[in-house]
Amino acid sequence: GDGKGEPFSSNRITANMSTIEAIAENYQTFNPAAYLQNNYIPPLADFSDPDSVVAWKLKCLADACASGEIGGQILVDIGSGPTVYQVLSAFELFKEVILTDFLAVNREELKKWLHDEPGAFDWGPFINHVCSIEGKGEPWQEKRKRLRERVSRVIPVNVHQPCPLGTELAPGTVDALVSSFCLEACSPDYPAFVKALQNITGLLKPGGHVLMIGALEESYFLAGEAKLSVASFTEEMTRKAFQDMGYVIRDFRSYTMPESMKVGVDDVKGISFVWAQKKESN
Ligand code: SAM
Repeated sequence: GDGKGEPFSSNRITANMSTIEAIAENYQTFNPAAYLQNNYIPPLADFSDPDSVVAWKLKCLADACASGEIGGQILVDIGSGPTVYQVLSAFELFKEVILTDFLAVNREELKKWLHDEPGAFDWGPFINHVCSIEGKGEPWQEKRKRLRERVSRVIPVNVHQPCPLGTELAPGTVDALVSSFCLEACSPDYPAFVKALQNITGLLKPGGHVLMIGALEESYFLAGEAKLSVASFTEEMTRKAFQDMGYVIRDFRSYTMPESMKVGVDDVKGISFVWAQKKESN
């Protein structure tokens, strides 16, 4: 039917799409290869274009990491998916890096890259770009080798649990968190996003740092057969979530998606970058 006159079934569909359980079920169709193809090759990942979204993301992360204020024992990347670009600056500042994802297929994709297995995605252009931002003239292969050595574990995560990493890492033990496009992409709405932020905040030591990149006003993205719905909100709402959670915002930037980068794999309007520091306990 057209949905009208069938209030029972249409209500059911609405309810289904907007629960944490339904999102988890929908992620079972997530295809890492399609996701990488959609987002991490040109035109979206074009390093010859200085206005490209990938260059913007890497610069935000590099600038925070060049401040000299971030570092320690353990860095955890929340919801890594099949990607590593988000830790390319931060990993250098920590003894141990832990990558995490909700899906086994994504953890396998990461291990394929870490072990340099055939068919692994090529992060070379991203690593090369971060080396050029750093400007030390280091061959990018050196950074790749260091990152592969620095990652100690690839483990499951669920940001909707009060202890998102279960027994692997207790609350209050992590020096810093990175997370890109995760919380909004697995939350049915803004309150669920805020709750997820609270859950991951529990992992951090007082004074610990978060570097988060997120989608602004996005309602869906595609990853192969999968169409994932995204909790849509504004940059003001992103900022407010961090402030209300007791963070000091150290840097906040946003990027408006240019027309040339709207290629039909999602309806994202912009991207936010937050560098936030958890207050020392009072
Ligand atoms: N960080 C990667 C990036 O920057 O492209 C991947 C982002 S992808 C849009 C969203 C990720 O969230 C997926 O890898 C997915 O498996 C993960 N995810 C889904 N449900 C989750 C949950 N409940 N807790 C944590 N991560 C989840």
